[in-house]
Amino acid sequence: MTDSIPSTTDPVALLQALIACPSVTPEEGGAIALLDRVLGAAGFETHTLVFSEPGTPDVTNFFARIGTGAPHLMFAGHTDVVPPGDVSQWTKGPFEGSIVDGEIIGRGAVDMKGGIAAFVAAALDYLASGQPQGTISLLITGDEEGPAINGTPKLLDWAMARGEKFTAAIVGEPTNPAALGDAIKVGRRGSLSGTVTVRGKQGHVAYPHLAVNPVPQLARLVAAVSAERLDSGNERFQPSNLEFVSVDVGNPAFNVIPAEARARFNIRFNDQWNRDSLDAWLRAQLASAAGNEVDWSLTLETPSSDSFLTHDAKLIKTLSSAIEAVTGRTPDLSTGGGTSDARFIKNVCPVVEFGLVGQTMHQINERVAVADVLQLTQIYKRFLADFLVGNA
Ligand SMILES: [Zn+2]
Repeated sequence: MTDSIPSTTDPVALLQALIACPSVTPEEGGAIALLDRVLGAAGFETHTLVFSEPGTPDVTNFFARIGTGAPHLMFAGHTDVVPPGDVSQWTKGPFEGSIVDGEIIGRGAVDMKGGIAAFVAAALDYLASGQPQGTISLLITGDEEGPAINGTPKLLDWAMARGEKFTAAIVGEPTNPAALGDAIKVGRRGSLSGTVTVRGKQGHVAYPHLAVNPVPQLARLVAAVSAERLDSGNERFQPSNLEFVSVDVGNPAFNVIPAEARARFNIRFNDQWNRDSLDAWLRAQLASAAGNEVDWSLTLETPSSDSFLTHDAKLIKTLSSAIEAVTGRTPDLSTGGGTSDARFIKNVCPVVEFGLVGQTMHQINERVAVADVLQLTQIYKRFLADFLVGNA
């Protein structure tokens, strides 16, 4: 960890310093302490918050704010990173932040210390120029790549309890598939996992008339449910999709008909569904495939996450315009991909996600072009000026 505070409006130096903090989830690694020093020195009110819960690791989180009144923009992100994997495969140390051929290499370069560095530099630039208006907050967790229990949900509860009123939020996750400016995420599909269990009657394979084999029965249910389409998608969302991810019997013997068989599945669903309607749909499908002779049950996991779509036209338009002005690209308004902490933030204010190019995230030699970090900083700065001062 570096003791010198990098030049605060230089996002590249800040990103290198953040990468040098080995904050593999759930370790703080010095990353939040570094943000505390940089933002504290710039006049932000800062709070470092450790949340804990039995059975889960303690997590260090961070909240910083500056300014007064509305509009109040929240920038949300995470300083924790996934493990580097086989370090010998990296061309440069994963916690060095080296620059090679115009790219910064290191774990977290795009997911998402690069987004944080760009936003901090943009915010400090914005505050230094002219007469800033409104309020800027940073809500940073160290628990996005982990269980996400002692992170964003508790940080939001804390912020709401102290009376923060957010107008809108940007999550700085890497949203662009190929080039900076490709896509803003304006929503996400929901996720629901569950298990179908079929109970038979255990017995000797040589005496099948004395047993009931749950394996072919379960196979029939899996095939029937897999063959059904949930919907065909809509203007903003891909079709909802159910995937069976495992079939488990746990029977090591060849001469025993097992008593029970289970199949686990996950559904990624659009805004035409919620947990209750999926529960009803699944039960109807299973009942019709099972008939009377199959003894089946369905359990759904908690928590599940609902889908959401951001309807704040000003937020989306202001960000799109800033992206177009800096990159020349018109971003797609996307709802694809996995889940993020935006699923929690959407409960307190409209939220969109925009950050770097995601191609190398979680990989060996995760890296980002220096030019992309500088352009993302310009995009965020332009957005702040337009959104907070109201030039949009
Ligand atoms: Zn991330």
